[in-house]
Amino acid sequence: MKNSGENRALVAGGAGFIGSHLVDALLGEGLRVTCLDSFLTGRRTNLAHLAREPRLDLVEADVTEPLPDLPRFDWIFNLACAASPPHYQADPQHTMMTCVVGSHRMLECARSTGARFLQASTSEVYGDPQVHPQEESYWGHVNPTGPRACYDEGKRSAETLAFDYRRRYGLDVRVARIFNTYGPRMRADDGRVVSNVVCQALANEPITVYGDGEQTRSFCYVSDLVDGLMRLMRRETAPDGPVNLGNPREMTVAELVTLVSRMTGTRSQIVRRPLPVDDPQRRRPDITRAERLLGWAPRVALESGLEETIAWFAGEVARRDHVPVV
Ligand code: NAD
Ligand code: UDP
Repeated sequence: MKNSGENRALVAGGAGFIGSHLVDALLGEGLRVTCLDSFLTGRRTNLAHLAREPRLDLVEADVTEPLPDLPRFDWIFNLACAASPPHYQADPQHTMMTCVVGSHRMLECARSTGARFLQASTSEVYGDPQVHPQEESYWGHVNPTGPRACYDEGKRSAETLAFDYRRRYGLDVRVARIFNTYGPRMRADDGRVVSNVVCQALANEPITVYGDGEQTRSFCYVSDLVDGLMRLMRRETAPDGPVNLGNPREMTVAELVTLVSRMTGTRSQIVRRPLPVDDPQRRRPDITRAERLLGWAPRVALESGLEETIAWFAGEVARRDHVPVV
């Protein structure tokens, strides 16, 4: 980045859950920020506290369509893509195009302006992993034709494009493989396990457990994740491959439900629902690479992060403007 003058960042998907926290962090570091978003799953309310922020520009655009003229950026973060299974499966073609065409447009934007580029990838590139925990060298076990493929294969393609831009044009690209992240500004109607279980518990409604609840995930609090993204972007030289960002504390869905039930004091019963097709059985990041290259490790304990998240959803449930999607 420039040593003097105003540095500019573009956050595609900046009105979403993670993106809006990233916008906060960038503004906090003194950058001027452009948020580009179609509001497919993102919300204006996520940025409402910045309504009078003169260093924030909002551009409403879909990355699958030709983009309006944009200024020159120092950093481009590409987070544009619905992230929860019900949302990304609602229009699988659009999800795939967002990952492929959208990432291509963002890469072109970075190439034409000499920006540093960070692609938000996902632990889903490992599919239903046969290697545990997952390190970046693992190529994954993805069903290319199943209902999750629009997202998993879309993100794999976005990674391919990013590294091809590095090989072909010398573009400075960074790829973060983000594992399950939770926290305030998730949508109550998001359909993910943390939002569903917390909202159901708060409303004393049945808590939906898919399958036997023995499948595992590892949940990272959003402030830790954003810290990891910032460190990855700030690093002077780009790592020569993707970097896992996630919390290595692994637990079963059943254990998460027990913890949330205890923390909320809910009267909810548990109801079983079929396990979705291709639902990964186990997931835990190996974060050795992030620790070594970025000096990064999550700091927020699950209990503390859940406390913040429960308080956030208590406000959402009270407003009743969203309901869980199961
Ligand atoms: P989100 O749905 O809250 O945010 C995605 C944002 O992208 C939304 O604001 C949405 O409106 C926008 N968007 C979607 N399609 C678009 C398009 N075609 N053009 C312009 N904007 C578009 O999801 P999130 O949880 O904040 O995820 C952000 C990024 O992180 C995504 O790329 C996701 O794949 C990745 N990720 C998230 C998680 C997680 O656990 N939350 C895990 C792995 C990867
Ligand atoms: N899940 C569940 N109940 C719900 C929502 C999700 O048991 O109400 C399960 C889901 O089947 C998966 C895990 O929780 O095994 C995490 O699901 P989520 O959609 O949050 O993330 P992802 O599957 O993309 O990791």
